[in-house]
Amino acid sequence: MSDTGIVIVGSGPAAVSAAESYRRAGGTSPVTIVTADSHLPYLRPPLSKDFLRGEVSASEIELHTPKWFSDLDIELICDDPVVSIDTNAQRATTRTGNTIPYLRLILATGAEPRPLAVTGGHRAFSLRSLSEAQSLREAAAAADTAVVVGAGFIGCEAAASLALSGIATTLISPDEVPQLSRLGSAVGERITAILKDAGVHYVGGVKVTAVHEETVQLDNGVSIATDMVLAATGVAPRTALATETGIRMVTDRIAVDEHMCTSTENVYAAGDVAFAVNRIAGRRIMIEHWQDAIIQGEIAGTNAAGGSQSWYAVPGFWTTIGDRTLKYAAWGDGYARARLVERETGFSVWYETNGIAVGVLTLDADDDYAEGQNRIRAGAALPL
Ligand SMILES: Cc1cc2nc3c(=O)[nH]c(=O)nc-3n(C[C@H](O)[C@H](O)[C@H](O)COP(=O)(O)OP(=O)(O)OC[C@H]3O[C@@H](n4cnc5c(N)ncnc54)[C@H](O)[C@@H]3O)c2cc1C
Repeated sequence: MSDTGIVIVGSGPAAVSAAESYRRAGGTSPVTIVTADSHLPYLRPPLSKDFLRGEVSASEIELHTPKWFSDLDIELICDDPVVSIDTNAQRATTRTGNTIPYLRLILATGAEPRPLAVTGGHRAFSLRSLSEAQSLREAAAAADTAVVVGAGFIGCEAAASLALSGIATTLISPDEVPQLSRLGSAVGERITAILKDAGVHYVGGVKVTAVHEETVQLDNGVSIATDMVLAATGVAPRTALATETGIRMVTDRIAVDEHMCTSTENVYAAGDVAFAVNRIAGRRIMIEHWQDAIIQGEIAGTNAAGGSQSWYAVPGFWTTIGDRTLKYAAWGDGYARARLVERETGFSVWYETNGIAVGVLTLDADDDYAEGQNRIRAGAALPL
């Protein structure tokens, strides 16, 4: 590449939306997406859902066609991770030695699965990339039994998908019910029921101590025979490029302001790797959600083209466990009180702190979901 332009590291939703938004905002410099991934950019959410169940193919989850990228004049370099950046000389270097100068750099390197840190933990599958999902799907096709470790949303979704594929699936978590500390016991109990409906055997209040070739050992002395193990034990943001360069971090993420600007001139960050200031909340909010990564990428891309967009949205996500879709909108950094309200075929849970709405989670209650978003955005009280 000869001309200096916009270099975007990563090919997840934050990266692709940054590239598109830069162009839509009138940016005319060359745009290059450089990614470690060997596939064309794809949708990650299906990897634990219909893709894992074998209902959609890899080509059906592609984000865009190669023509879409060429029409927008976006160059895509796959399977060649950026290994270092020089923020003084403004250039990025890839594993193959390709040195790419930049006017603006957007870091959208996302997150990677935390390994299962027990004896034999390397035997467990992890699930973030399409390649990992393909390996998992292949193993599932030959399995009669599976153990999923970790009952975050990816663990719950994957366990339900495996069970619905006819595999006897056990989900192990240290929490008595899934998501206890994040969403409270009422939601945890509902998720347990949804998992049961999908055929998942939930075992809470225990930890895995070892993964052997054909068994998983628990800390209560029980050993579970299994053909395969999936570790869904959370993610760690991929920050090495930023930390090596002295870009400011807060906790374990890249600190960005509401415009997605890092502490270093001409360097932006967006998506799971970033810890951004939310204009409405008036503080940094951590996100690990698809749609929020798109929004943050859009802000970074637009601002790299000379705009001045701010992050002005209530974050949230939808998760589909089996055939039930939970919708959640929240600041996500805690609540003082949760109140569950039954609805015709579902329920809503309102979260509040100091009398102010800070979150809403719904199942089959879209009106509540919309109202909750409005109240959180407005800093209003919960409905009576
Ligand atoms: C199985 C699964 C299911 C999910 N389901 C949902 C859901 O239902 N709803 C929801 O809201 N969210 C869901 N998520 C979360 C959502 O996918 C993430 O929040 C989102 O992908 C984050 O986007 P991102 O662009 O920040 O990072 P990522 O999507 O992680 O993309 C990061 C990119 O950076 C690349 N990269 C990393 N390091 C380098 C480097 N040094 N050089 C070049 N490239 C690099 C990676 O290869 C990757 O392409 C799910 C995630 C998974 C794994």
